[in-house]
Order: sequence, then structure tokens, then C-alpha cells
Amino acid sequence: MSQGSDHRSVLDLSQYQAVLLDLDGTVYHEDHALPGAVELILRLQKIGQPYACLTNSTTSPHQLVSRLKRMGVEVDPAHIYTAASAACDYVLQRFPQGPRVLNISTSGVDEMLEGKVTWVKDDHSPCDAVICGVPVNVHATEDRLRAALVQLRGAAELVAICADRVYPSPRGMEFGVGAFTAMFAYAANKKPVYCGKPEPRFFNELCRRLGVNPQRCVLIGDNLESDILGANGVGMKTILTLTGVATRSDAEHASPQLKPHAVIESLASL
Ligand SMILES: [Mg+2]
Repeated sequence: MSQGSDHRSVLDLSQYQAVLLDLDGTVYHEDHALPGAVELILRLQKIGQPYACLTNSTTSPHQLVSRLKRMGVEVDPAHIYTAASAACDYVLQRFPQGPRVLNISTSGVDEMLEGKVTWVKDDHSPCDAVICGVPVNVHATEDRLRAALVQLRGAAELVAICADRVYPSPRGMEFGVGAFTAMFAYAANKKPVYCGKPEPRFFNELCRRLGVNPQRCVLIGDNLESDILGANGVGMKTILTLTGVATRSDAEHASPQLKPHAVIESLASL
């Protein structure tokens, strides 16, 4: 771990073109803001420094705005990038003629692609992509899942919102997008395209939207395998916060690609 003057310099946020903040485990946990989070976002807004909140959530930015607002901070949806946003960007770029999409994930994906794609809901209409989320989802109905299987055994591409194996919920642990996608990948013998963290496309597309160079940005997150690995991979500076899944010991024993440039107790350290 860097210490001394080097450590301080990584934590000086004013030097970066943009500050990228993970949400779950960094800015909030369930329905409460974590220490220093609201203050940091308000400070970035006040000084006009470009920033973005990012998450492997399968929802749309609009659906996260109200959650943040309840915690005392108003964030424009343009400053939020979700893995579902990245999946939508991917299909629009991959099939520029207008993708034909079977959505087995969320209403957030409906919202972001409405008017830009042709929706497929059966097993025989032409289909370019199946967008896969978690098993507990409004569109993960038995009929749609069977249609998706047939489409994937045909020409459709398997687009996974992210590769997370599991995710935490108030009930405990749930099957993640990666786990559910693996079921389709196996059944259809098809390689998925992953869109969320730690994929380079996620970080690069976010920076493209912000008009900044990834190598001049800093990412602050709680997860070594999604946040730190992904951001290190595109040349960002990385700060691990200990309010989420990773411990100081995890960071100290991490392989070079997963090692953050600095570790903080919480966003209050900034
Ligand atoms: Mg997190």
C-alpha cells in the first residue's frame, strides 16, 4: 500500500478530470448513506468537478435517483451509470441498424431502450440479442426464459448485464446476473458478452460519456474484483474504501491487478 506523500497525492481529488464513485458499499448500504458520502457528492457538485456514480445494478439511473434523494443528495441521472445502462449502450452500438431485443431482465432496460429497438417476446421472431439479468426479475417469466433459450440456440447474442456471481439482498444472498447467464450460456453453448464492472467497455464508455480520459480519473470503490480490477485495467487511479466487501487485509494480499493505489476507512477520509 502506498504511504506518505505518494498516498496523500492519490487522495487529492482535485487533480483528476473526474471522480468515479461506486454506489453499493461505497456511497450507500441498502437505504442508508455511508459516512462522508453525501458530503463528498455535495462538495463535488459545489466545485463543479465532473463525477459519476457507478454500479452493477440491473436498474436504470432514473430508478437510483430517488434512492439517493431519500439519503439527502440530488444526483442527475446523467451522473449515474449502471451495468444495465452499459448493456443497453452495447446492443445499440453492436447492432446500429436497430437491434431486435428479447429482454429477460428489468423494466429499467425497457425504459432505456424503448423507441430504439424492436422488442422480441417469442421464440421465432428475428432476434439479435437477449439481455440477461438476475432470476428474480419482472421479465424472467417462464415463457420468456423458454423463448430466450430457443433464440440463443439460434442466432441471438447473449448479453449479460454483468458477471456478478451473487448479490446481497435484505434476505441474504441471491443468484447474480453471472450465475443466471451461465445457465443460458451452458444450455445454448454460447459465450456471453458481459457489460458491467470490471469490463473495460463499462469504464471506457462511462469516460466517453463524461468526455474524460480514463488515465486521468480516479475510481473509489469497495470491491477489488469489480471496481479496482476494472479501473486499474483502463489506467485509472484507484482508492479502496473499507465500508463494503473488501478488508485492508484483502487489499494487502491482492495480486497487482487488484491492488488499489490507496485504502481509506470511508469516504469521510476524503
Ligand atoms: Mg460496491
